[in-house]
Amino acid sequence: MQYLVTHFSDFQLACLGSFFLHESVFFLSGLPFIYLERAGWLSKYKIQPKNNTPAAQEKCITRLVLYHLCVNLPVMIFSYPVFRFMGMQSSLPLPSWKTVLTQIIFYFILEDFVFYWGHRVLHTKWLYKHVHSVHHEYATPFGLTSEYAHPAEILFLGFATILGPALTGPHLMTLWLWMVVRVLETVEAHCGYHFPWSFSNFLPIYGGADFHDYHHRLLYTKSGNYASTFVYMDWIFGTDKGYRKLKALKSGHMEDSGKEM
Ligand SMILES: [Zn+2]
Ligand SMILES: [Zn+2]
Repeated sequence: MQYLVTHFSDFQLACLGSFFLHESVFFLSGLPFIYLERAGWLSKYKIQPKNNTPAAQEKCITRLVLYHLCVNLPVMIFSYPVFRFMGMQSSLPLPSWKTVLTQIIFYFILEDFVFYWGHRVLHTKWLYKHVHSVHHEYATPFGLTSEYAHPAEILFLGFATILGPALTGPHLMTLWLWMVVRVLETVEAHCGYHFPWSFSNFLPIYGGADFHDYHHRLLYTKSGNYASTFVYMDWIFGTDKGYRKLKALKSGHMEDSGKEM
């Protein structure tokens, strides 16, 4: 941190630093799932039997690079004055881990709440047809499809991601940590695989890949599962009924086949 602070300006760190960090985390965590799908490795953990064609995967990557440069980077540059105004700093000392943890938990809860309602609005007829259908082009999602969306949606739902930090003016390190965990979380939700070590197995309140994959494979009016991180928003507002029914059916089948054996 000392090195970063003395060698780069605040603006360079907050805008370009954030951009490069985001690109690295996003592509490093998302690309392995492309190769996993192509090679057919760990296929017993794949949620859907269907695979994406290399052409579809490549289309996703080229669009992403374009959107990241033309949408994400300008957003980072233009939101910089807001973060500064709210008290964001990159100087030493670093904040205490308690402050960092409280802020990140608050960002997750706030993001999930705003995302849930924003996502439901995107599933209304007009907005779905003209905006959100782009994200749903991939009915069999893979890690990188997490950020594949119409530019208007990137702005609209990106607002949910930066709202928490914009309100609290955190230390730049906290902002970076939030960005890293949020990217890893959304890549995991779209990865298309449910592993025995998947986070949702240990934290039932967390949605994860199985939860969001269901949202992608069903018709846009029937899917439900609108929340980004947790499962309680859909549970409270009854938009997870189809998913719960399917899960109950599946576990019923498992019990039945267990008895036969
Ligand atoms: Zn959707
Ligand atoms: Zn999605």
